[in-house]
Amino acid sequence: MVPAMSAMHYISTRGQTPPMGFQDAVLEGLAPDGGLLIPERIPDVRDKLAFWSTLSYQDLSFEVLRQFVDLPVEDLKALIARAYRTFTHPEIAPAWPVGPVWILELFHGPTLAFKDIALQFLGQFFEYALERRNARLNILGATSGDTGSAAIHGVRGQQRINIFIMHPRGRVSPAQERQMTTVLDANVFNLAVDGTFDDCQNLMKSIFRDVEFKRRYALGAINSVNWARVVTQIVYYFSSGLYVMAQTGAPRVSFSVPTGNFGDILAGWYAAQMGLPIGRLVLATNENDILARFFNTGTYSLGHVVPTISPSMDIQVASNFERYLYYRMNGDADALRNAMELFGRTGALSVAGRDELFRAGVGDTASTLETIRHYHDAYGYLLDPHTAVGVHVAAPHLRADEPMICLATAHPAKFSDAIARAVGRDIARHPALDALKDAPTRVDPIPNDERAVRDYMAARAQV
Ligand SMILES: *Cc1c(COP(=O)(O)O)cnc(C)c1O
Repeated sequence: MVPAMSAMHYISTRGQTPPMGFQDAVLEGLAPDGGLLIPERIPDVRDKLAFWSTLSYQDLSFEVLRQFVDLPVEDLKALIARAYRTFTHPEIAPAWPVGPVWILELFHGPTLAFKDIALQFLGQFFEYALERRNARLNILGATSGDTGSAAIHGVRGQQRINIFIMHPRGRVSPAQERQMTTVLDANVFNLAVDGTFDDCQNLMKSIFRDVEFKRRYALGAINSVNWARVVTQIVYYFSSGLYVMAQTGAPRVSFSVPTGNFGDILAGWYAAQMGLPIGRLVLATNENDILARFFNTGTYSLGHVVPTISPSMDIQVASNFERYLYYRMNGDADALRNAMELFGRTGALSVAGRDELFRAGVGDTASTLETIRHYHDAYGYLLDPHTAVGVHVAAPHLRADEPMICLATAHPAKFSDAIARAVGRDIARHPALDALKDAPTRVDPIPNDERAVRDYMAARAQV
């Protein structure tokens, strides 16, 4: 008998859900009481860091995940091996010194954005868990670009899962659209909705609210609140942090994280709590700055979404923020529930005090373009617009004794229009994207109508 691993349980931020294991937490996605699932305790790994600094990305993933996951050792190892087989760089997430910062490249997966790190693992995990339960799943998602393609590539070709991804017709970038619609596997369904991203999200939300439909078709979600997405992202904070400390001899590192839904930077916060020596977490937003305002003023208040050249961060309500807020309120689930209820009613909530781990700022369009141009001209390195927001916001926080690791969340070729605007020429290329130019596509146009989406799914779902 292979011993089971960590018996970590997961509880809800809203305090009204019985504790559950990792597998249930991941298959559920959201806690039944409407809260987010979090580990019942955060492991302290400080005595393991010397050993961890010697490991490959896959072996380090195993060590980090086993702190949180109740899977047999060999099964977890196999899932990790399969998840990262699709990456084109042998180090998975390499870090390089570029000018005054370190760039952590998280875009070597199949869709060239950091979401692959989590969704390649999640896709493997779903297939594994469904097999063991002899169950099936129909994933329904709405995307403005990066999440949908990463999710599709995470589950393409799997036997027990069908995936239905809605995108707003004509409103995602051509590269993002091709990354979705050129996937011809029989279990992948792309729906081009006649409407906006918000329309797609509203269709998804109202279908999920129909408990009967949800149960009948075993609907599942892949959105950024799934714990598996956060936990797999903790790994690259350790891998890059330990590597840069070893290279520079620095006693700690800082990170700059371009932020939308607060998923990526939340993983950094967990890494710090686990004992990775982190000086500062620099939270960087574009003009959609609800999170930057929160960390600078203590007030979290809703604005309007404006479209920018870093579209994957064009978000107002940050779906993972509730997890951080729970800890910030000292684990008081009643207080958290009241705060979220207030936010739902009034669009604002406030928290006293200040978290010294964080620094926060905004990169607007002009400074983003200027940062891309400067890094290209001065260092010969092309930043994608999301990464450039992070690099810009990090600038005032650079310190000689604390290397700044800037998370590069997408390959620049994915956002080649912004690059052309910044440097004056269309120079951002990637062979994987070039190869899609003439590839056959499959996509079904659909009206912005809930009935039409339900009928479409009912005819094609796994049952
Ligand atoms: C999703 C995404 C982000 C934001 O990540 P969050 O976890 O939502 O904060 C940043 N950059 C790119 C390229 C993304 O796709």
